[in-house]
Amino acid sequence: MVLPDIKSLRREELAARFAEWRLPAYRLDQLLHWLYERRVTDWDAMSNLPQDLREKLRQHFTLQTLELVDKQGSRDTTQKFLWRLADHSLIESVLIPANPALYGDSSDRHTLCVSTQVGCAYGCKFCASGLEGWKRNLEPHEIIEQVLAIERDHATHVTHATHSTPPRSAFPDRLINNLVIMGMGEPLANYDNLIKALTILNAPWGGGIGARKITISTSGLVPQIRKLADEPLQFRLAISLHGATDEVRGKIMPVNKKYPLKELAAACDYYQKKKGRMITFEYILIAGVNDLLDQVEPLSKLALKLHAKVNLIPYNKVEDLEWERPSEPVQEQFLKALEARKVTATLRREKGHDIDAACGQLRLKTERALQKTGV
Ligand code: SF4
Repeated sequence: MVLPDIKSLRREELAARFAEWRLPAYRLDQLLHWLYERRVTDWDAMSNLPQDLREKLRQHFTLQTLELVDKQGSRDTTQKFLWRLADHSLIESVLIPANPALYGDSSDRHTLCVSTQVGCAYGCKFCASGLEGWKRNLEPHEIIEQVLAIERDHATHVTHATHSTPPRSAFPDRLINNLVIMGMGEPLANYDNLIKALTILNAPWGGGIGARKITISTSGLVPQIRKLADEPLQFRLAISLHGATDEVRGKIMPVNKKYPLKELAAACDYYQKKKGRMITFEYILIAGVNDLLDQVEPLSKLALKLHAKVNLIPYNKVEDLEWERPSEPVQEQFLKALEARKVTATLRREKGHDIDAACGQLRLKTERALQKTGV
């Protein structure tokens, strides 16, 4: 029998189990403290839980962590983490230091870009994550662990500790207080696991990260956008748009055939009205594909109608793919043309340009190297 991982369970689910075991409620608080505040990786580290309870937990649940395979970048710049999961699949997370202009407000400390699937089935033509197809959905605990494992790694470096349980003082507060769900995978194609993970990361007994500091990015799955609008939590929504006409978007994003712009715009409108919050259009500028000024007019119309902000991101070159980054004057010209039409827009200088920070590249390189060596 495959045991569930304890971090894939909500508090209510664990409370029901503790009630079955006739345990007092404070034991559950102690357990959650060990999991989400102390971020321990070992049942035996939970020193104030009785030995027989630790044994019982071990028999009923796993307590998985992510194995760090590679880390690129330094502590004060963008850092990319490559993780190995229990089934040896590889995923990536990217830690971005405080950047007021990015998603949340100016008090942001660190933003973490989280993966939700191993590979991706959506095959956007410019993206490394989709190059080798989709393998599986991540479980809730594998999404949550990306946050905890990085905080653990950080605390271990801060304290120079060599043991697996950094002392309490190593975690004065959360290192990560902003999440963007735009790593590997299409988040809304793993809807239930994503919502469960985010509910746990948001809960005061769990991650304690505000829902408004969590941005879910989608390539445009219309039914799921509507479903997300009906969820009680106020997550921010970002749409990977990358083209403002069906012709241009369809060239680089196969999902546009299933959900063309008109349907996508209607779903965004529903989300925006339901939540009353500004949505974001991600727009990767690709030379000669979507950076021509003929996209500015339809993009402006869409953004103004939907009360959306536009994030322009110059393309990061992916090995094996033909696309190129436009020159800086072309990027600036595109931005200025949007601003001239009163669109709220920013041009992001991709921070991880030099460390393969574009989605899926580090994993792809590592997978290919492992294949070559027959590992
Ligand atoms: S951009 Fe996102 S949805 Fe598109 S292939 Fe890459 S990971 Fe998948």
